[in-house]
Amino acid sequence: MTTKAYGAHAADKPLEPIAIHRREPGARDVQIEIAYCGVCHSDLHTVRSEWGGTLYPCVPGHEIVGHVSAVGAEVTKFKEGDTVGVGCLVDSCRTCPSCGEGLEQYCEVGMVGTYNGPTQDPPGHTFGGYSERIVVDEDFVLAIRHPEEQLAAAAPLLCAGITTWSPLRHWNVGPGEKVGIVGIGGLGHMGVKLAHAMGAHTVAFTTSESKREDALKLGADEVVVSRNAEEMRAHAGSFDFILDTVAASHNLDAFTSLLKRDGTLCLVGVPEDPHPSPDISALIFRRRSIAGSLIGGIAETQEMLDFCAEHGIVSDIETIRIQQIDEAYERMLRSDVKYRFVIDNSTLRS
Ligand code: NAP
Ligand code: ZN
Ligand code: ZN
Repeated sequence: MTTKAYGAHAADKPLEPIAIHRREPGARDVQIEIAYCGVCHSDLHTVRSEWGGTLYPCVPGHEIVGHVSAVGAEVTKFKEGDTVGVGCLVDSCRTCPSCGEGLEQYCEVGMVGTYNGPTQDPPGHTFGGYSERIVVDEDFVLAIRHPEEQLAAAAPLLCAGITTWSPLRHWNVGPGEKVGIVGIGGLGHMGVKLAHAMGAHTVAFTTSESKREDALKLGADEVVVSRNAEEMRAHAGSFDFILDTVAASHNLDAFTSLLKRDGTLCLVGVPEDPHPSPDISALIFRRRSIAGSLIGGIAETQEMLDFCAEHGIVSDIETIRIQQIDEAYERMLRSDVKYRFVIDNSTLRS
């Protein structure tokens, strides 16, 4: 079925209206009319091929929410009219050890990304949520239990939410722990909200003086402007866990030095250029770790969505028309986002 979308034809080309093909729903498929789609920094990295390997045309978007418009004959979990979401992955092998443990994002055969992933559908790679509709196997569709008026603000939970939730849970963040969140953008602002909701003493690290007040409102107990060496020094050796969401290359030693003995700095930002090599002695002499984490599995994504619905947690968003996407990218590059752009997909039809 022909579907209106926004995509780029090359790394140096802006996004523009394009028509894409969506398959007719198969027996296990759910067809979703997309209401809103969040704008992740990964969309920008991919559209501009900053990580290499982007297949064109490229239609990004993996923070998808909308309503079911058709289901295949064997679908049992969803019915027409249901409010649903699709995050960063739409398939995996389902049989490897990681899939078996519900960690499909680490599928050892290779998970299928919501965009730029391999598919039988023409032209051979997946298209994301900057489009009118999407067709996804029911096992990779999430139930959204937030009230309808929060639907747009729930969209960023599908990537920004789960990408921060998964490491916070994996490293058992909770009461009595001091946790840092670095970079108060789309991921970081969700990290602050979630770490706070988990009961940790939460410290927001920002390069933007202008975000100081906001970060407290998001749930931070303290805010540190990371360009201020004195403010940084005051926290030396005091953190159990720090989650670094920064989308650009930077000096990691500034944060490893803030960890306690046995503390962990977990990286989720994937910059175009590598970080400078960290100071190894800062790790060795305090048995500190630098780790990484990739989005989250389907079961934990549903767990996070339900937790957020129950606790009234959504993203702080600025809704945009699809025609404003290039401007949104430029603002994201200037760290001028409060705190996630979300596309109103009905504007694809105007
Ligand atoms: P974003 O909204 O642009 O936020 C990134 C924030 O990092 C900025 O708002 C800014 O916060 C800070 N920052 C930017 N440039 C900086 C610099 N040069 N030095 C220090 N701080 C800087 O991006 P996002 O959507 O949250 O994504 C963040 C990164 O995570 C991207 O690289 C994205 O591709 C990646 N990502 C990874 C996963 C995963 O599974 N691991 C999933 C999704 C996204 P302040 O103004 O507060 O300093
Ligand atoms: Zn993302
Ligand atoms: Zn697998």
